[in-house]
Amino acid sequence: MASEFRKLPGVDSLLTEAPLKCLGEEMPREVLVAAVRRYLEGLRQAIAGGKTCPPAPRIAAVVAAEVTALLRPGLRPVINASGVIIHTNLGRVTLSDETVAAMHQARGYSNLEFDLESGRRGSRHTHVEKLLCWLTGAEAAMVVNNNAGAVLLSLAAIARRKEVIVSRGQAVQIGGGFRIPDVMRQSGAKLVEVGTTNCTYLADYAAAITPRTAAILRVHSSNFRVTGFTRETSLTEMIELGRAHEVPVIDDLGSGCLLDTTRFGLDAEPRFQDSVAAGAAMVCASGDKLLGGPQAGLIVGQKNYVDKLRKHPLARAVRVDKITLAGLAMTLTHYLRGEAEVKIPVWRMIAAPLDEIERRAGRWAEALGWMASIIPGETMVGGGSLPGGTLPTRLVVVRGEDQKPGLALALSRWLRRREVPVVGRINEEVLLLDPRTVLPEDDDVIIGVLGTATQTYPDFRA
Ligand SMILES: *Cc1c(COP(=O)(O)O)cnc(C)c1O
Repeated sequence: MASEFRKLPGVDSLLTEAPLKCLGEEMPREVLVAAVRRYLEGLRQAIAGGKTCPPAPRIAAVVAAEVTALLRPGLRPVINASGVIIHTNLGRVTLSDETVAAMHQARGYSNLEFDLESGRRGSRHTHVEKLLCWLTGAEAAMVVNNNAGAVLLSLAAIARRKEVIVSRGQAVQIGGGFRIPDVMRQSGAKLVEVGTTNCTYLADYAAAITPRTAAILRVHSSNFRVTGFTRETSLTEMIELGRAHEVPVIDDLGSGCLLDTTRFGLDAEPRFQDSVAAGAAMVCASGDKLLGGPQAGLIVGQKNYVDKLRKHPLARAVRVDKITLAGLAMTLTHYLRGEAEVKIPVWRMIAAPLDEIERRAGRWAEALGWMASIIPGETMVGGGSLPGGTLPTRLVVVRGEDQKPGLALALSRWLRRREVPVVGRINEEVLLLDPRTVLPEDDDVIIGVLGTATQTYPDFRA
């Protein structure tokens, strides 16, 4: 063992090994010295545990690879061929080119909180408020960091130390870490659950109203469906009841839809403008679901409530940044111009005609050659909107020569490890790739990747 320790190279000599010497031209020597020292420390422990000492060039290569990996941003673009349009794990949605340009332009100084007329302090909420009010019909609007923040702020500002009535079927968990009972507790409001998981009647709400009731909360069941014998009280009924008792209704819409989803053969997703017209005091939704913009929480509603929210101390903790505001404003103008379906990627994907998808699937399959075939399938809208909502699509299916089990897994792993990773979905030991969730302008990239896949078949080691 002692002799293994003696084989350990010195820091200086390691730094003269080619890979580290090369890196030394790009970055300060101290960084490499620190990296080498850390590695040698670990190696000493390994040797004490009975391992042998690797040769110096090997050590230098490993340390250089570690440092190089640090220089490469962990967050990388991937191609979403999974067939889930709003894919939370892949960053939910793609932004329009105009949105990205606006965000780029917002990188410098701006009149974020500066009134150019008076030269005095302004409010960051004014920049998108008019647009949001115009599109939704609301009196007032504000934007925060995300929808979880929007709901938390609404509850904290309106209902702290008071009661909020929620249907038992809506006291739910949405995605990772957003649970209505937990958010309620954090806001300081007391959750009063009414009805049952599948049925909640207006009378259940009415019976729960007390002088301590601060709000009725409706939560859109955006990621699950209760089927069979169900009964939910409509938003309009809740609002009428609330009005009679001067209790505001907060509507957590989830996906923040502005368009009519039934035009695309989907279920009717509740829209901002419908909730506002029904008379909800506050309507909360995400900016990065069906709205198709950057991550944000949108709150629209009655001015007296929105004013209260803006003044609440939590508003600062969940405030939105300038880059997001610029992007969101641009995404919203696509709706105003009536061009959402041709500009906003989520809607482009939803609106894409089947024959175009079929043609693109043909090109993808051609790149894969004999491994691929095309079958009819379904794209999921996904990500906290339209539970179970699907659109017809054409899927590229990859099967091995003899339908080798494990081939799909090996190929999907290989695809994930490309320079631009491609994420598909595995179903019953075949790999499925859906062109509907890929923008046509990315076809050349994916076709390039698929084209090289046939060359590495069947082990996909490269
Ligand atoms: C998605 C969703 C949320 C959470 O929104 P984030 O923007 O992810 O914070 C809350 N409520 C509902 C109903 C949702 O669908």
